[in-house]
Amino acid sequence: MWRNVLSLVVEALLVPRVLCAYDYVIVGGGNGGLVVASRLSEDPTVEVLVLEVGPEVENIPEVYIPGLAGGGDIFESLNWAYQTTPQTNLNNRTLVVKAGRALGGSTIINSMIMTRATKAQYDAIGTLSNSTLWAWDAILPYFQRSEIFTPPNEDQIENGASYNGSVHGPSSPPDPDIGAVKVGFPNFFYPQSEMFARALMNGQDGMGFRRALDLADGEIRRRVGIASNSLDASNNVRCSAVCGYVTPFEKQRRNLHIITRATVSRVEWDDRKRDGLLVARRVQYYVHGDSVPRYADVNVGRGGEVIIAAGTLGSPKVMELSGVGNATLLRGLGIDVKLDLPTVGENLADHVRSWANAVSNASVTRDILRLNDTFRQEQLNLWCKSRSGLYSAAPRTLGLAATSDLVSEDRISVLVRNARRDLDKYASEYANGNGALQQGIKAQHEITLDFYDQDQQLPIELNVEPGYGGPTGPDGLGDNKFTTISAILYSPLSRGRSHITSTNAAARPAVDPAYWSHPLDVAMLVGGLQAARKVLRTPPLNSIFIKEFEPGAGVGESDEKVQAYLRGAAASDNHEVGTMSMMPESLGGVVDTELKVYGIDNVRVADASIIPMPLSAHLAATVYMIGEKAAESIKDEKRRRNAATLLYQMNQGS
Ligand SMILES: Cc1cc2nc3c(=O)[nH]c(=O)nc-3n(C[C@H](O)[C@H](O)[C@H](O)COP(=O)(O)OP(=O)(O)OC[C@H]3O[C@@H](n4cnc5c(N)ncnc54)[C@H](O)[C@@H]3O)c2cc1C
Repeated sequence: MWRNVLSLVVEALLVPRVLCAYDYVIVGGGNGGLVVASRLSEDPTVEVLVLEVGPEVENIPEVYIPGLAGGGDIFESLNWAYQTTPQTNLNNRTLVVKAGRALGGSTIINSMIMTRATKAQYDAIGTLSNSTLWAWDAILPYFQRSEIFTPPNEDQIENGASYNGSVHGPSSPPDPDIGAVKVGFPNFFYPQSEMFARALMNGQDGMGFRRALDLADGEIRRRVGIASNSLDASNNVRCSAVCGYVTPFEKQRRNLHIITRATVSRVEWDDRKRDGLLVARRVQYYVHGDSVPRYADVNVGRGGEVIIAAGTLGSPKVMELSGVGNATLLRGLGIDVKLDLPTVGENLADHVRSWANAVSNASVTRDILRLNDTFRQEQLNLWCKSRSGLYSAAPRTLGLAATSDLVSEDRISVLVRNARRDLDKYASEYANGNGALQQGIKAQHEITLDFYDQDQQLPIELNVEPGYGGPTGPDGLGDNKFTTISAILYSPLSRGRSHITSTNAAARPAVDPAYWSHPLDVAMLVGGLQAARKVLRTPPLNSIFIKEFEPGAGVGESDEKVQAYLRGAAASDNHEVGTMSMMPESLGGVVDTELKVYGIDNVRVADASIIPMPLSAHLAATVYMIGEKAAESIKDEKRRRNAATLLYQMNQGS
């Protein structure tokens, strides 16, 4: 006991105290977190604090030059690079799930693709949470609010860019003092982009897709088009969540406080509950290099809140370290259980990536940047001088395949019938013994299987890379140039989990996405990779095809061989969702439709972890929308509280 008292005294003397309390403390300054921070701090009467592990890196060329996206050593240091547990269905391999570790989060290292899923998929999320507030029509204004959209210019249109103005934000900020991410198109288009689009649209040898008007308008089934990018088109630089939601008014907004290199170790709770709910009182964090913690107090009396936005793998970790999660797991680690919420960290799903590539005789591919230093330097100079050339591009032309593009009608009907027969078996396996979540996963699977039945599921994205993409390192590529088509599994039924294994806030959680544990996932990705191989050989792309490199002739043609190859080669597409899912409690959800954690009065979640089931889209645009929705819910609650206080005061006065 004396030791405890002594340590309290030492802490009181040594620990630096932050004097002011914050109305809102945001854990994680990434895609979702910075939207919330920015929107809340529009109100000058509130104090907002963001705590972010990583550094501020907006001024690093590798970050802002579009054509450098994702490459180079810098991306290693700005990346959590979470390791999965050995994946039973992928030859026991340990895979890497990337996520940004910097102010701006994953929007600092991502490929800048801004797409949205189908209207029906967002509607389904609304259905799952018994709410019309999350259906497509209800969320569209938040998508629009989150962006400043520069329509394509004549040159870009000539190169295949198109758009549907009715689904985008304004082309200039309605108010220079409020945030939004800039969205536009690149200045350079490789000819391979259009060749790929025409190969997919080719009705005779290809898949007969149609050209997409806009990959963000929810009408994307069997469409191919050029994705817009998170890009400041006026200057051709990446626009991250920092560029969109912080930089424009960083200096003026004195109530927006951002501490970088700060690891949040836990949320601490008030001794007393409010209406039976836990109340967050302060957030404990460590500034990089310090061994003593600091605390950010939450202004509870003024309706203060904590917003968790540490990403799909970071958010459950913070909650578990704070004593909120599966009580058995927490007790096993010696953590004082504050709230038994066993589905925290469960329901994890991720997109799975594969590649087919061919040695190419195209005159220009990105490989030349790797092969020829002089050319590389010339192109960099070109970008610096005129914002043009190969480095101005983060090119992505992509198409969304339906099930009927991938497997025969007979095969899919057997697969879906079996999946329906095995609904309980898989739901129970994935739910880790939690009855409510079992119902939730069953409901998710039923929605997905209905989409399969109606041929409305979009299980695979095919996208083209005018250069090498795949698992082989530069030494294995020789002097070759390549065309790569990625096939990405967008509709996994597999569900896994991510949990802490220690009380050390710096330790990574044990991440198990249970890749390929459902037979439909296997069939779809195999079908997707076979489709990618075929598209490489389809006119007009066949004109630059020399020979397949991967999977390669050695793998052979059969689905069985491709399946075996993928078990050794498939990778994460870094689109993990679901660990703090927005579903009713009766379905094992963690947050409600206002993104509040069940059982807690003043903690919300605002990142990709709340997306209950995988979407047929890259996620950044959806996470910006989630940030906007979260901020609106918080502001609404404040308005309701103020109105109630006013009414009370008026009643007292009368
Ligand atoms: C390599 C890569 C490429 C991608 N490409 C695309 C693409 O082209 N288009 C697209 O739409 N999507 C893409 N994505 C996915 C998309 O960017 C992410 O899904 C999305 O940005 C996630 O947003 P988030 O708010 O959930 O998390 P993040 O943006 O990752 O933010 C979480 C933040 O919390 C911080 N954090 C974590 N733990 C703590 C803690 N304990 N204390 C303090 N801070 C903490 C992290 O450092 C991070 O900054 C890509 C992702 C990756 C990794």
